[in-house]
Amino acid sequence: MPRYTPMQRAALAAPVIVAGAVLSLGVSASQAVTPPPEESKPYIIPPYSPPAPAKTFKLKPPPPPPAPPPAPEAVLPVSGYHLTARFGAGGSMWSSNHTGLDFAVGEGTPIHAIASGVITETVYDGAYGNKTVLQLEDGTEIWYCHQSSFDAGVGTKVTAGQVIGYVGSTGNSTGPHLHLEVRPGGGDPIDPAGYLAGRGLAA
Ligand SMILES: [Zn+2]
Repeated sequence: MPRYTPMQRAALAAPVIVAGAVLSLGVSASQAVTPPPEESKPYIIPPYSPPAPAKTFKLKPPPPPPAPPPAPEAVLPVSGYHLTARFGAGGSMWSSNHTGLDFAVGEGTPIHAIASGVITETVYDGAYGNKTVLQLEDGTEIWYCHQSSFDAGVGTKVTAGQVIGYVGSTGNSTGPHLHLEVRPGGGDPIDPAGYLAGRGLAA
């Protein structure tokens, strides 16, 4: 043990704040407790630092997948045509007024489903010739008449633009053309031009 002068003892007895805080201020040198061993180090209370708030880890939402090109909702049944008879037209060709819209176009031209639906009939139907009936999702029937051949059987689910058959001149027809009828709910025909216009298509 080293020897301490009174002054040193007083210095050693200087206030030291320890856990359980014993304040030795004012204690005389003679009353001083045993000086701390040399190797002991003053206990320094670290400044209070509040715990860092927990970091919330935000998951970045995954980037949206690239949008596929929107499928067309409706398309015209044929391309490269010219209209030869409108809905409601009179004439010797029909027993009553014309019940559809005639698209004159070359024999064998592909015919497209105007919208998605299911084929419910493919039949030779007298004056209509080879007829495909496409039932759209809203129940509207589209009749495609005078076809040279069919390309989608009954029960086939089709989407807009899909080929369902080919233009011909079967039935009561004087030349290759597509006679298109639109029958909401399978009932009486309405003007196909107006119906197509309602779907954003100008026939
Ligand atoms: Zn017609």
